[in-house]
Amino acid sequence: MSNSRKRIGIVGLVVVAVQSAMAAAKAPAGETLTPIGLREIKLAGEIGRRVDITIYQNLLALNTEKDFLDPFRQRNKVAGYIGLGKLIDATVRFAAYTNDEQVRALKNHLIAEAIKTQEPDGYIGILVPASRVWGVYDIHEMSYLVLGLTNDYKFFGEKASLEAARKLADFIITRWSAEPSRIPGPDGKRGSMYGVTTGLDGALLTLYEQTSDHRYLDFCTNFAQYQLPQWNVAIKLDGPRMDDERHSYIYMALCVAQMQLHGLQPDPRLLKQTQQAVDFLTRQDGLLITGSCSMSEGWHSNQTGSGPASESCATAYLTRMLDRLLRISGDAKYGDMMERIVFNALFAAQSPDGRRIRYFCPFEGQRAYFGDTYCCPNNFRRIIAELPAMVYYRSGDGLAVNLYTESTANVELPDALRLTLRQETGYPSSGTVRIHVDPSRTAEFPLGLRIPRWCTEPVKVAVNGQAVASATPRGSFLTIKRPWQAGDRIELEMSMPWRWIKGRQAQVGRFALMRGPLLFCLSPEVNRLPKELDLRKIVIDPSSVCAPSEDARVRPGGLACKVRAWSPGRATTQPSDLELLLTEFPDPSGTAAYYLLSDPSMSQDDELPVARQ
Ligand SMILES: [Zn+2]
Repeated sequence: MSNSRKRIGIVGLVVVAVQSAMAAAKAPAGETLTPIGLREIKLAGEIGRRVDITIYQNLLALNTEKDFLDPFRQRNKVAGYIGLGKLIDATVRFAAYTNDEQVRALKNHLIAEAIKTQEPDGYIGILVPASRVWGVYDIHEMSYLVLGLTNDYKFFGEKASLEAARKLADFIITRWSAEPSRIPGPDGKRGSMYGVTTGLDGALLTLYEQTSDHRYLDFCTNFAQYQLPQWNVAIKLDGPRMDDERHSYIYMALCVAQMQLHGLQPDPRLLKQTQQAVDFLTRQDGLLITGSCSMSEGWHSNQTGSGPASESCATAYLTRMLDRLLRISGDAKYGDMMERIVFNALFAAQSPDGRRIRYFCPFEGQRAYFGDTYCCPNNFRRIIAELPAMVYYRSGDGLAVNLYTESTANVELPDALRLTLRQETGYPSSGTVRIHVDPSRTAEFPLGLRIPRWCTEPVKVAVNGQAVASATPRGSFLTIKRPWQAGDRIELEMSMPWRWIKGRQAQVGRFALMRGPLLFCLSPEVNRLPKELDLRKIVIDPSSVCAPSEDARVRPGGLACKVRAWSPGRATTQPSDLELLLTEFPDPSGTAAYYLLSDPSMSQDDELPVARQ
């Protein structure tokens, strides 16, 4: 290192740790952090691999003619749902991110074929004329078609797609406005309405953002049945699951739409419902160890993890809700929650080879795969397509790093400054992250680094080999503001000790094993355990967990760890008789994530539920 570089490193370094005050000069209204564009980033590492396998092993392997397009050509159903709009929305984003000819060709084909089925009145859907608009899931299906088509215009400038989106949105608005007191859905009740109209608000707001046509905004904000700003219900845990108070996907989709509206017309009222959801998750045991939530699609807080736990739609919309919260508040807490859900619940909702997707993702008991159509597989594809925009965010006149993964961002900052930021890291296997900073000219700007809450040991940060302040609170962004020049390098060293996390509610007395953002699980198959063995009665010696070993069954460079344990019924005063290999939670054969420990005093509280710290 040259002397002049050293001098800049010492003299020019200003380090500010901020919780939520990362001021943004040119951010959209109400946003502190702004995502970078899908065309400004290339991902590698596990997040990049998941994006790639979703595209090349799943999306391009679908039978889109038979499963997705034919029902729209036939239009012979009285009720039902396919998910073509969600598929189109995901494909548009994947095409923008990859610019791959094959992906673009699929996008263009899906959209051209969908538009060919558009009726003269604007309808695109799968239902017979008598069921249209009012039938179950018709508005839901049409809404995501409006969104996907509008996003094709947003990302690719396709005017025909925007035209089709407007015709379809106009069809919904015209038909519903003609019978304003009628409520779509199975029983004509308002509680069930949101389930069959989920996505309408987000689609119309996106259409408004692209067209500035106030009719779309007005319908969301003023139409008697909709009135998005006034939507305000308390979370409920019992009773029917398909209403907005109880259904976690429906509830969070409305929260995300309110935050989208907040970006257009900032109003604190629009954040109240989201805050209620966050409080439920982090203060009332709604958040699961995998980072996701929900049981039988509804809110729940008893921490049961078997059966229909963690609907993939809930996983997708919680991730999206956290992204919006991070953008609005700049609070790293939401980034911490994002990495938990992404590396565990989200990736476990997909087979390691990428082809299959789950509807539910329990952390106890068997996990099953689902087919290619319907809500969950398509919301899964959509959120994976949005992940590239959740790694780096513009922050004031600089950039903030939210997720750690091998990647390169190439962005334009104010005053025509081009910045290339390259992360070199084995994360999440390793907490060592090297960031290469290459601005097009020497310039001062802030770079933010999220310091995760799981960092129980001090984090070491150095710029060009010079240590940076060590007093950064975990769970906040460390912002380094200095004159950066090409060739600068940031080194971030987060040690990843094992953590035995105390279970709550139904899991009291049991403990989960985590390392960094990763949750580990126990697979009877991997460990060749007899089928009749009750995994919940195995006792693990928490002190026996040592350095992780490489294990590629879930991902290249993945990890596993050995622990010693006692069979059910065997006294822990006797020598342990089992040696178990715990694998990363996305291991599809994992059937347990909480265990009994011989020494519970070695455990700690989960760092994410804030009330318990
Ligand atoms: Zn679903």
